[in-house]
Amino acid sequence: MSKLGPMSIGLRGLILSFVLLAVLATLCNSLFVAWGVQRDALVHSALEANRAYAFKVASSITAFLESVHERMGFSSQRLGRDFSNARLLREEALRLQAQDTELNTVLIVDANGTLLQDWPEVPAMRGTRIQSEDIRQALAEQRPLVSHAYTNQAGQLVVAISQPIFSPTGQFLGVVAGSVFIQQRSVLHTLIGNHYHQDGTIAFVADEHRRLLYHTDIGKVGERLTSSPTVDAALRGESGAMEAINYQGVPVLAGYAQVAAAHWTVVSQLPREQALAPLGKLMRDMLIKIIPAGVLGLLLILLGTLLITRPLRQLANSATQLSAPQTTAQLQAINAWYAEAAAIRAALLGGVQLLQQKLGRLKRDAQNDPLTGLANRRAMNEALETLDRDARHYAALALDIDRFKRVNDTYGHDVGDLALKQVALIIEQNAREGDLACRAGGEEFALLLPDTGLEQAGEIAERIRQSIASTPIEPVGTLTISIGVACRSEQTQTSEAIIKCADQLLYRAKQEGRNRVVVQALTSPHTAC
Ligand code: GH3
Ligand code: MG
Ligand code: MG
Repeated sequence: MSKLGPMSIGLRGLILSFVLLAVLATLCNSLFVAWGVQRDALVHSALEANRAYAFKVASSITAFLESVHERMGFSSQRLGRDFSNARLLREEALRLQAQDTELNTVLIVDANGTLLQDWPEVPAMRGTRIQSEDIRQALAEQRPLVSHAYTNQAGQLVVAISQPIFSPTGQFLGVVAGSVFIQQRSVLHTLIGNHYHQDGTIAFVADEHRRLLYHTDIGKVGERLTSSPTVDAALRGESGAMEAINYQGVPVLAGYAQVAAAHWTVVSQLPREQALAPLGKLMRDMLIKIIPAGVLGLLLILLGTLLITRPLRQLANSATQLSAPQTTAQLQAINAWYAEAAAIRAALLGGVQLLQQKLGRLKRDAQNDPLTGLANRRAMNEALETLDRDARHYAALALDIDRFKRVNDTYGHDVGDLALKQVALIIEQNAREGDLACRAGGEEFALLLPDTGLEQAGEIAERIRQSIASTPIEPVGTLTISIGVACRSEQTQTSEAIIKCADQLLYRAKQEGRNRVVVQALTSPHTAC
């Protein structure tokens, strides 16, 4: 990692960032969509529940009104057959009231509106004309009626239910009417019940004049409703559900239905906020369920990223040290398990091989003499340094071809070069493994013999001399060579001293007539070099 530099972003970091971004975006999107779907579902179910509830309540009220009308119809038929029978009138009023506990009062009036019978009985009232609006309407319309809500003489909010009375010949005789008190716990409370309202649902029943006959909050009964979309729709005879704003400006989910027989309207509504209250918990539950899978997914992504980037990272590290000798082995050890990594590895391996071949060639060129192929002076100096460092014992031969200038002068420089090569070959053939044959310069050579004593070195020098002197070189004929031999000794401790000594001995060999070997004399310091 550090080799990539502190500012570079790693492939692993990049992949992880992008994948994490994508995962987060997907998660947010899913949560948002789920939130919308859940919200719509909650709204839909609240609307449906309120619609069904309003419809059910309207049906119950209709059934109640029909049953009251039915019983009154039965009484009116009996009364029609014998309307002048005061005993029968009293009996029917009593029976009706006894049958329908919801009927708080019962009245029987003749066609002029004169009270013939009441229950509970108020004898003083009998024979008087009833002025109430519902009786006037019943006398005028001569059909079964349910009045709108009104306040009676006793100050109570009531609804009247009436049936006309006809004689068997069809003559209109009067009306039998019953009133239902709706202020207190009335039949509507019994029908609607309280159990449903615990979740905050508000239900109310209003008559055609928008007067409240029932409300979840009993105190509101008798009040008049202002216009609202739900009440207006129900009063038009529609039934259904809608999202609306209530009179307090609160958004509500409302169901509404009409009681056709009485032109009443039933509304059941739940504040939207309350209907959506479970949304938070639903989303929390969902998140909790998503987390384990999400964590597992992220771990898998992390593992995948590591597996993908690992070979690339290792390849990148190796690429920074292509010239190092261990790089080939390092590259081969990398598990490049997918195509691209394998291709990069193969390319790097090829590159390393080429580079190392080239480096090898360069090194060889730098250390070898191009003409003879022997080590050059630089390589010789390095070898001497190593021998000095290791304090190793060795012998050194200084060799110089005799009268070589003549060869050049006689045959030319190119032939001279060929002769140099031949001599170099002979020197090299006489060297052993571990010895170092060098071209010290021009027609001068050196041979380093590690772990070799003077005597043995002298023998090797003599062998070389004889070998050269006895090998004809075309077209030059035979050449001779002079050799000085020295080794590490008390007088010659450093390489510099040893080589200098060998050179001096070589010079002596020249002076003594050439084509000879002069070996360092250790016994006599006088004749040492
Ligand atoms: P001596 O026996 O005293 O060594 O006589 P010499 O002629 O060998 O000695 P000198 O040093 O006077 O001459 C060396 C000659 O070697 C001179 C030069 O022409 C020749 N020579 C040096 N380097 C090369 C080379 O690379 N190629 C050829 N062809 N000749 C070379
Ligand atoms: Mg020379
Ligand atoms: Mg020479």
